[in-house]
Amino acid sequence: ARAFSAALPAASKASSSEVHLDFNENPWGPSAAARRAMEQGVALSGRYPYRFQYQLVDLLARQLSVPAEHIEIYAGSKVALQQAVMAFTGGSRSLVLATPTYEAPALAARAQGAAVHEIDLDARHAHDIGAMLAADANLGAIYICNPNNPTGTLTPMVQIERALREKPAGALVVVDEAYIHYCDAPSCVPLVKDHPDLLVLRTFSKIYGMAGARLGYAVGQPALLEKLNVLGEQNVAAASSLLGGIASLEDRALLPERRQANARIRSENMAWFRDRGFTCTDAQGNFFMVDLRRPASDVAQALAQHGVRVARTWENWPTWMRVTVGKEEEMARLRKAFALVALPAKH
Ligand code: PLP
Repeated sequence: ARAFSAALPAASKASSSEVHLDFNENPWGPSAAARRAMEQGVALSGRYPYRFQYQLVDLLARQLSVPAEHIEIYAGSKVALQQAVMAFTGGSRSLVLATPTYEAPALAARAQGAAVHEIDLDARHAHDIGAMLAADANLGAIYICNPNNPTGTLTPMVQIERALREKPAGALVVVDEAYIHYCDAPSCVPLVKDHPDLLVLRTFSKIYGMAGARLGYAVGQPALLEKLNVLGEQNVAAASSLLGGIASLEDRALLPERRQANARIRSENMAWFRDRGFTCTDAQGNFFMVDLRRPASDVAQALAQHGVRVARTWENWPTWMRVTVGKEEEMARLRKAFALVALPAKH
């Protein structure tokens, strides 16, 4: 778990010019329309915002071509993920996930004493579904992050379908699509109607730039969504967040614009590292990893001295640095700092 103090900007002057490429946030934040809607939401915050939550569900249902009963809104997709893990693991039922991957499900499983099986990504940095299925006969839940955080890599749909086909009866398959909007890969949402044990998670934190507003959703069959109610009933999200989410979805130009800008800046910067002899992951989200061939934590520390924050490192990928795609000028700061701290000096 990361220390929150590390995530919060320090009150020093120096920190205001720090470049944050560390938490896969969106440097553009909420769209202009979302900001206006969120302001209206503030004024309407004296009342519980259930009607906005129903509106958001209806809009999502129309856009995703699924019944409204297949969607549940959460204050961030992380809560849905934690509740899913709580509902399906514990006792003898374990969790299986990749390593490295997003750590929240493993933390949730361990918090209630469930066994956690961490399976290395395969040679192409996809989830090794065969090894994941073989990890334990008592699998309660299988977590598939697609694209995967921190590598940004995809797992082919045929492999996800294999997990659904071959998993133990009653076990849950969670596909986390937090970053799916950034790439062209097919979503698992259309599979939900045929798979009662499939849960697909989405968020407004990434491409919609609303990480601070805490808004996400789960897509699953009604009986499965019901099982996620480990606290007896669901909560409602914040009025301003719900209205911001609706405005984001109504702006049909927003997603393709942001996907394109992200892809351009990501590929330019990956090319910069590759031109200097480094290997990058085949990254499809708003971040990429670079193999520095030396402890990445040392480089991250040195970059921080120059006001550029990159992600923490992962135990079994110690030489890889994860960089979130920022604005052009932020990436220029990264390249400049990296050249100073990690490239051989030019003579
Ligand atoms: N899933 C993945 C893969 C993530 O990387 C994150 C956040 O970084 C989340 C879920 C949590 O997203 P949210 O802000 O919707 O809780």
